[in-house]
Amino acid sequence: MRPRRDLSGVIANNLCIGCGACVHADRSLRLVFNRQKQMYEPDGPGGRDAAAVCPAVQVDFDFLQAKIFNDAPVTPLGVVRSVMLAQSTNHERNVQASSGGLIKELLLELLSRDEVDGAIVLGHFQGLRFEPKLIANPDQVDQLPGSIYHNVVFDQAIQILSENTGHFVLVAIPCQLEGIYNYIYKVRPELAERVYCTIGLLCGWQYTHHAIKAICKFKKIDFDRIEQISFRGGGPVGRLCIRTPQGECRVNRRVDLAYQVAFDRSFNIPRCHLCINHSNFLADIVVGDAWLPSTVRTATGVSLIICRSEQAAAAMRTLERKERIRTAEVTREEVVESQTRRVAFGDFSYAYAEYLKKIGEFCPEMVGPNRAAARLSPEKAVRKFHRENRIKIRLQQQGRYRYLYWRKLTLEIRPFLYRYLRWFFVRIVKIKSLLGTRKEVSREKLAGFS
Ligand SMILES: Cc1cc2nc3c(=O)[nH]c(=O)nc-3n(C[C@H](O)[C@H](O)[C@H](O)COP(=O)(O)OP(=O)(O)OC[C@H]3O[C@@H](n4cnc5c(N)ncnc54)[C@H](O)[C@@H]3O)c2cc1C
Ligand code: SF4
Ligand code: SF4
Repeated sequence: MRPRRDLSGVIANNLCIGCGACVHADRSLRLVFNRQKQMYEPDGPGGRDAAAVCPAVQVDFDFLQAKIFNDAPVTPLGVVRSVMLAQSTNHERNVQASSGGLIKELLLELLSRDEVDGAIVLGHFQGLRFEPKLIANPDQVDQLPGSIYHNVVFDQAIQILSENTGHFVLVAIPCQLEGIYNYIYKVRPELAERVYCTIGLLCGWQYTHHAIKAICKFKKIDFDRIEQISFRGGGPVGRLCIRTPQGECRVNRRVDLAYQVAFDRSFNIPRCHLCINHSNFLADIVVGDAWLPSTVRTATGVSLIICRSEQAAAAMRTLERKERIRTAEVTREEVVESQTRRVAFGDFSYAYAEYLKKIGEFCPEMVGPNRAAARLSPEKAVRKFHRENRIKIRLQQQGRYRYLYWRKLTLEIRPFLYRYLRWFFVRIVKIKSLLGTRKEVSREKLAGFS
């Protein structure tokens, strides 16, 4: 891979994900909030040191997977030991959580071990500010937030690892782990010893704060006075809850048009459209949602788990033996069915990266284990997306959220309705099973799930 001079391409193309690797590699840099973009990025381009660790510049998945998993065999879904569906048996924890409450069960188990000194997890500070913090006491686990979908800064994770000796569990989304491992293996390899185990979230996308500004505008919420935000919880899909001194506003994530506009893909941070690592190739254990026809009617969330290391598989076995979770082993096909090919294999992202290179624009250098399995989206669709996404980002930066609302209701109504129809036929009617193209997870296997 060709070394880059600095981070100018990352900043010019809004590709920062806030992992914080650059500010540790180049101490002259700081992460700042860009008000126009409504996302974090470094306050300058830095130099070669910063560019060398930045996951928006490059990620060498072959190298990192070999280091982390001791050259274990790699499949198109990364290193995979087992795949399962799982759910916490603690009803309250499960209902509060974003999917099955598995991250909290794993944290409680790992924090109870003598050899673990703490966990580095995203915590809430105030308003929309969420940052990594160190917890050592299991009592702190149930206070942690669920999935936070807006852009956050994660530089404290490396700070905590650098300043504390011991062994730590680290909870992170894929691109945060890319930045942290880039930094560790390129700058401070001795820190690898301090990572006891990583719990990775599966991640489809993240949003700039424009998404929250837009929903606040549609629902007449005072954006500047947000005290608390929670995106999930209270059932399998969960509601977006925003609290201000005026009260709490709850928004249905599935059927509310205002939500669908504000959390349209154009509100994603741009790096997500180029992400090929949604299923977190670098985490020991990956936790996502089981979006399957067989789990669609469960009253509480069910998690999809990929164990990549023996240590992770053993932790799951321990939790099951202690009856803290229920599990059902499934196949790798369930990962693809639950998440779609776009998420599992990067069909769109690889095609988009090729397109950007062709037109001479900056894009990260990333080839994941899923590259050979990817069926690239047609260039025509990618070109159209690129053109429209640019227009929509400009409209967001001008604060023209209402225009985007009407655009969704008129110009974009067909793809919008198509998504609902697809959801209905695939998840509810189980059309693929009816046509014989797939076999559902059996009722017996899921018998104990709530
Ligand atoms: C931005 C984002 C996008 C996601 N996209 C998908 C997807 O497309 N498909 C899918 O199947 N699953 C996705 N997930 C994962 C899913 O929403 C659940 O978080 C996951 O299944 C874990 O659920 P849980 O019930 O075990 O954890 P919970 O009990 O809800 O705990 C989640 C833990 O993760 C940590 N956390 C939350 N948000 C962040 C963040 N932004 N950065 C770092 N750490 C964080 C917190 O410390 C928290 O303790 C996404 C999560 C995030 C944060
Ligand atoms: S992605 Fe990470 S390393 Fe790259 S510029 Fe952003 S914070 Fe820095
Ligand atoms: S989709 Fe990829 S780039 Fe976007 S937030 Fe998730 S892991 Fe990061």
